[in-house]
Parts: sequence; C-alpha cells; structure tokens
Amino acid sequence: MKNQLIAGFLVIFLVLAAASGCIGPSEDEHEYEGESGHDHENSAAYTALNDSALKQIHSGEKILVAVSVVPQAEFVEKIGGDKVIAISMIPQGAAHHYDPSPRQIKDLSSAALYVQLGSGEIFETMHMDAFGQLNPAMKIINSSTGIALIVSGNTTDPHVWTSPKNAQIMVKNICDGLVEFDPANATYYEQNRDSYLRELETLDVEITDELSSLSNLNFMVYHPAWSYFARDYNLNQIAAEIDGKEPTPKTLSAFMDMAEENNITVIFVQEQVSTTGAKAIADSVGAKVFVINPLAKDYVNNTRHVSELLAENLQ
Ligand SMILES: [Zn+2]
Repeated sequence: MKNQLIAGFLVIFLVLAAASGCIGPSEDEHEYEGESGHDHENSAAYTALNDSALKQIHSGEKILVAVSVVPQAEFVEKIGGDKVIAISMIPQGAAHHYDPSPRQIKDLSSAALYVQLGSGEIFETMHMDAFGQLNPAMKIINSSTGIALIVSGNTTDPHVWTSPKNAQIMVKNICDGLVEFDPANATYYEQNRDSYLRELETLDVEITDELSSLSNLNFMVYHPAWSYFARDYNLNQIAAEIDGKEPTPKTLSAFMDMAEENNITVIFVQEQVSTTGAKAIADSVGAKVFVINPLAKDYVNNTRHVSELLAENLQ
C-alpha cells in the first residue's frame, strides 16, 4: 500500500515538476534572487498605497507603519485605528527569503515606524539595514520584546505571532511604540489596545478549553509555522519539511513512517503550496489534509479556525 502511494506520488511529482520547469537543483540556487519562483508571483499580493493614502501620510493626517508580516499589520490597525495606515513588507503567502518589490520600497520611504518581528526572521536579517539606510528617520519597534523565543541550534523560530499569548505581548509592544511616537493620541491607542487585548484573551481561553482534553497531541505540518502555538497549548508540531521544501519522493517515505509512528490524523499545508505530497502521506495513515494560512489578516478568526480544526480532528 505504502509503496503504491509513493509510486503514485512519484508520477505526479515528475509531471508537475516537468510542467513547471523547475525540476533539478536549479530552483534552490535561484531562491535568493527574488525574481524567480513563488516570490515573484507573491509580489502581486501587495496592495500599493494609492494617491489619497499618500496624501494623508505626507500631510501628517495619518502615520504610515510598515511591518514584516500581515498579522502585525492587523495588530497595528487594531491599535492605531483611523490614525494609521499599515503596509506589510512580506505579502500573503510569500517566503522568508522574499525580496520587496520596487513599489514596496517606494512606499516604505514614507513610513514613520517599522514594527519588526525581532524574532530572528530571516527577511529582517536580510533587509533591515537597507530599510534603515533608505529611511533613516523611520523609528523601529521590536514587537517581540518580552517573548521567550524558541531556540534551535543557533537560530530562533521567527513565527512568534501564531500563538495568541505572544500576540498579546506584541500588541502591547506596538501600542507602546505608537504612544511614544504620537503621545497626543495615547488615550485613543490605549483604549483600542485594551479592547483588542480582551478579544485575544477570549481567544486564548477558548483555545485552551478546546484543546486541553485531547488525547492525541500530535499534528503534522509542511512548513512548521505553528511552534509557538504548539508550545503554548501543549501540542506537538511535527514538520514534514526539510530546508524549506516540500517532500520529494525520497523523503516522502520517511514522512509516512513519521506520520504512522506519531498517530497523525491532521496534516496542515499552507496556501499556494502543492498538496500532492501531503495527500500521499495522509492516505498512507488515514489522516486529513487542511490548507491553512499562518499569514491571514483576520488574526482572531483565523487562529480560531486552526484551533477548531485541531479540536475536531485530533483523535
Ligand atoms: Zn515561515
């Protein structure tokens, strides 16, 4: 059964790889160039600032706040309300090695604040110095101050936002930064912060309730973006990914064994990633594949959705 599944996967894998013209090692070599593969497609997801937004920013009516990932833009807007405009430098679905488009760089030059993840995010390691040179007046806020980072080897896991417990800390840090920059509106920001913190606390309680009585704590995910979520709700995230790539026919067999050993019933894949390998693993152990998005804008509902999928399907 397993061998048949791997053989089936191999055929589909080769057809897809040949059709997309990305078979062989050349794909990896292009990953850092920014103009190739998924990064290029994803630049379309960035919505450039329009003329009226630029006018409001340049007149001082609104504060332009740049962030690294989309959930941070949601946090900034929840706190800043109608006083801010947020842009995300890593658009929906883009990879950690994303290179911003010229239009993003142009918009960034008008930003007053940059909210960093500050969690060892490779995008920031690659680009923050250049962003600072481009816009030296831009103030930098570290949204991860006070978060216990997950360390593996000499790197840290950058995906801090996926845990609502961390999100609460990030929201407080962002509010502090906004208040420092624009003290005249401190009360407005602090009231918005407190009302969003109540939403995040409710979410945290819901998830804790929902996931605390599970007997199976293991879930599998292609790109391990949910380490902080797993840590904070006592789950066990198992990554079916090596070096940021989908399983190849060679690694697929090992992932099938891993899925079986860990009684996997849920496999998460990200949007814009092929589900072929995940389906092959799922078929081999009778698990279900769900497409989820760790970079969704509607943070509260998206995180609730992920928790519900786990609560309903971890058996
Ligand atoms: Zn990631």
